[in-house]
Amino acid sequence: AFLDRIAAVDGEVHAFLHVDPEGALAAARASDERRAAGRLASPLDGVPVAVKDVLATEGLPTTCGSKILEGWIPPYDATVVARLRAAGLPILGKTNMDEFAMGSSTEHSAYGPTHNPWALDRIPGGSGGGSAAAVAAYEAPLAIGTDTGGSIRQPGAVTGTVGVKPTYGGVSRYGLVAMANSLDQAGPVTRTVLDAALLHEVIAGHDPLDSTSIDQPVPAVVEAARAGASVDLAGLRVGIIRELGGEGYQPGVQERFDEAVELLVQAGAEIVQVSCPSFEHALAAYYLVMPSEASSNLARFDAMRYGLRVVPEGVESPSAEDVMRATRDAGFGDEVKRRIILGTYALSSGYYDAYYGSAQKVRTLISRDFERAFDKADVLVSPTAPTTAFKLGEKLDDPLAMYLNDVATIPANLAGIPGISVPAGLAAEDDLPVGFQVLAPATADDRLYRVGAALE
Ligand code: GLN
Repeated sequence: AFLDRIAAVDGEVHAFLHVDPEGALAAARASDERRAAGRLASPLDGVPVAVKDVLATEGLPTTCGSKILEGWIPPYDATVVARLRAAGLPILGKTNMDEFAMGSSTEHSAYGPTHNPWALDRIPGGSGGGSAAAVAAYEAPLAIGTDTGGSIRQPGAVTGTVGVKPTYGGVSRYGLVAMANSLDQAGPVTRTVLDAALLHEVIAGHDPLDSTSIDQPVPAVVEAARAGASVDLAGLRVGIIRELGGEGYQPGVQERFDEAVELLVQAGAEIVQVSCPSFEHALAAYYLVMPSEASSNLARFDAMRYGLRVVPEGVESPSAEDVMRATRDAGFGDEVKRRIILGTYALSSGYYDAYYGSAQKVRTLISRDFERAFDKADVLVSPTAPTTAFKLGEKLDDPLAMYLNDVATIPANLAGIPGISVPAGLAAEDDLPVGFQVLAPATADDRLYRVGAALE
């Protein structure tokens, strides 16, 4: 049914870069056999899933939305993908994304943008717009995204889906093509909070192949989500972050946010106001740390190891460097080049302390702001994104306007804490979805699900 739905609507939505009908059907048949034998591998055995094209899938193309990886087929599975397969989830295909996960609209994909199923002339968010749109358009019941600065939560917000960024280290990064290793985290994209929790449990847990993986039991997210709307939040302290809201936020977004807070009060929660003064500098710090790590990571695309190789014309006996230059010039898009240049500059000798070093200090201040806020509150809340889905093309020529979409999501990545975006209804101005963000202390991912479930 999902393959039929993809065939019917993906021409317009363009959520997928690659669909794998044979593989998905073979996995579904194997699941049917397990069901008949009464030996299901997990509660999600047989439920199809779409995977963001930044995760390595053995035998299936993995492009990261870039021309430089066109035609590359990984010889191994990312740990997340291996766990999906082991739990019996058929993989429908790979979803569209901003090139190397750099963007907030999926317009930086080298393979053309994804359209928001709510309004096809609008962006589906980014970088994981393909995963969010696939779920919102009923092309997939579940999807996997990755979140470096908001790429699961912001697409979730603007497509009316649920998106979770787990605690850093909660889900293995092995086989996740790195943009910024200290920020990247894979997580669920779904229609309900319980679906997200079930998927979270499948992909999370310690992995010896990722040195930053947390060696602790997975938080009890399914149990927390099962409470559903009947959940009693008595005694739960919910902190409203003063710096994330008000000026700069679309009125209809703020209205839906206030209404969701009211629902939490009705469920018994106590509201407190918290202030995180260093958040003012979060975006600036992020846009130094992330490009620094990305510029280093992307050095591996050297025309020798993966995908594209362009031999320059008119050069007699081109050197390895000539081939590398021509390949990187043709294979990387403008946004990727911009970040490589920014990152290389920030890391260069003489500038390292002023830029990268300062950004790391700001990062520590942001973690301290969170620690102080979590002394006063058990969870923190904000709108997920300042606006609803904007029009395709609207911010494409203005990188700073594009970067501002992530003001509310980036602090969590800098501090490594978990966050969820849950649908909070439609904005009055444009009838487009609004997301409500909940943040919790590191390894307390279960709190996201408890609060998220109360809002469904
Ligand atoms: N939009 C942010 C960026 O461009 C976040 C991307 C992400 O989370 N992958 O870096």
